[in-house]
Amino acid sequence: MTTATQSIDAVVVGAGFAGLYMVHRLRDAGFTVQGVDAAGDVGGTWYWNRYPGARCDIPSLLYSYTWSDDLRDSWRWSEKYATQPEILAYAEHVADRYDLRRSFLFDTKVISAVFNEATGRWRVETDGGRVFDARFCIMATGCLSVPRVPDIPGAATFKGAAYVTGQWPHEPVDFKGKRVAIIGTGSSAIQSMPLIAQDAAQVTVFQRTPNFSLPALNAPLTDEEVAAFNEAFPIYKQLLDSGEPGLPLPPKGWVPTDAELAALVEQLWNGGGLISAVMIPDLVKNERINDAAADFVRAKIREIVKDPVLAAKLSPDSFPLATKRACVDTDYFASYNRDNVTLVDLRDTPIEAITATGVRTSDADYPADIIVYALGFDAMTGALLNIDIRARDGLALRDVWRDGPKTYLGVAVAGFPNLFTVTGPGSPSVLSNMLNSIEQHVDWIFDAIQHVQTTQSAVMEATLAAQEDWVAHVNDEADQTLYPRAASWYVGANVPGKPRVFMPYVGEGYKKRCDQIAADGYPGFALSR
Ligand code: FAD
Ligand code: NAP
Repeated sequence: MTTATQSIDAVVVGAGFAGLYMVHRLRDAGFTVQGVDAAGDVGGTWYWNRYPGARCDIPSLLYSYTWSDDLRDSWRWSEKYATQPEILAYAEHVADRYDLRRSFLFDTKVISAVFNEATGRWRVETDGGRVFDARFCIMATGCLSVPRVPDIPGAATFKGAAYVTGQWPHEPVDFKGKRVAIIGTGSSAIQSMPLIAQDAAQVTVFQRTPNFSLPALNAPLTDEEVAAFNEAFPIYKQLLDSGEPGLPLPPKGWVPTDAELAALVEQLWNGGGLISAVMIPDLVKNERINDAAADFVRAKIREIVKDPVLAAKLSPDSFPLATKRACVDTDYFASYNRDNVTLVDLRDTPIEAITATGVRTSDADYPADIIVYALGFDAMTGALLNIDIRARDGLALRDVWRDGPKTYLGVAVAGFPNLFTVTGPGSPSVLSNMLNSIEQHVDWIFDAIQHVQTTQSAVMEATLAAQEDWVAHVNDEADQTLYPRAASWYVGANVPGKPRVFMPYVGEGYKKRCDQIAADGYPGFALSR
């Protein structure tokens, strides 16, 4: 059923942390805004990924909005790394506190966004037949919001229960006494397997590529830790505002000796949590450093996993550490010491098919009552390209991005006026604490929209020249690192047919650059009346 077109200032697609904050900022400033999400409620990632063990891998105190002291004072995380239900509750708390749900349509998918050259406005259509006529269109559609569903032959013939981690049911899944096949060994599988193994009769993990994973060493957050964080918060916020990561990092320019490096990696391992590119100097640029850190993790795997053959199979050897996002786990490697957990190395015996009764590899049939697909996402571009986005002269985003995404700053695309992407490809996004990057982008987009208003412009649009320079710079920065060596979702390697382009921005000083562009009156953008 098609209803009357509703004329508003802005459409925001997505009700995750990006969409919630964007709607809040715009509405607070008096804009008329319509949010839309395919989900039944707010939360985005944390609405969909309800698999056992799902948690953040950035400490909860940092994986939080920083834009409101009141909000911060009204929330108390219970653990160092919060569970999915707690993070979802946080998103719900934000929605309640700022009365955001009334601005959203849920269970509704945006299917197209078409720019009308004559009116300078976007026509945004949903699968329910709702049409919005909006001046601004903000895509807060998420970098990891299009889960890969099984394309393995025979998947539809399986007679047991099958679950995709990124589309997990709302009711608990009972694994007790069941034979469970888990396909994939990325973060989602690595988080869920140990908990599933505690209940299931038998767990068989199908591994195509072994992965680096580090212990979370999760623990309840004490009042002292929360108080210390709150006390240091002004400094943290100041660092973020000035474009620094806000984390205690090694000094810039320090090239550690082998001994210093060994001590640093040991210290990071013992502290728990993610080892990312920023925590070890030159980790993703210097092979010596990367090899040493990777060897350290492999030695730890050998220490934890009792069977040396199994330890070798679980040891990543095909890409440098952190060039695929490293995982953070609780008892992942130790769970392979359990009698009820088996690894099938798909490099020796690839999956041939899913059958009615389980998984068939080149040398055996593995019967299963439940299959858990933890196959990852069509990352960074998937959600944007799922929408038919068209602008000037019928230009389709799907065509413009045929050979890989092209943006200016990851926030705008030349030829697509008044359309903004939160944490889009070409921005640091998935390589950062996403909550910080989301806030930075939402604030920047909000200021840009205000600028369009105050200059009485009709539209703001990235110029092709600025976009080409930015894309070249993004590629150049990536080429100076080890990242392109990994067949990762950062380069689209996990989706058959997807162009191989390194999508996030790995250079330094991103926020400073964005702020300078805003301060200078948005060079690289054309404003027209
Ligand atoms: P999302 O939360 O992905 O929200 C996007 C929303 O847009 C979704 O609800 C989706 O339904 C909706 N949408 C998309 N397309 C359409 C459409 N066409 N029509 C209607 N609605 C649409 N990042 C970190 O920094 N630290 C972590 O610890 C961390 N852990 C993660 C754990 C998991 C399991 C996953 C999958 C990701 C994790 N991430 C983490 C990344 C995470 O995606 C971001 O931190 C953050 O939650 C993204 O928020 P968002 O609002 O940008 O996008
Ligand atoms: P992922 O890292 O892309 O892992 C997908 C896994 O499935 C890989 O092991 C992949 O193998 C395997 N796979 C894919 N298709 C397959 C097939 N046809 N047959 C066999 N194996 C197949 O996905 P993810 O685990 O969902 O994580 C994605 C990202 O989400 C993470 O990198 C992280 O950014 C975020 N995340 C974070 C957390 C957290 O700790 N907070 C948890 C979950 C997700 P190959 O490696 O060989 O392709």
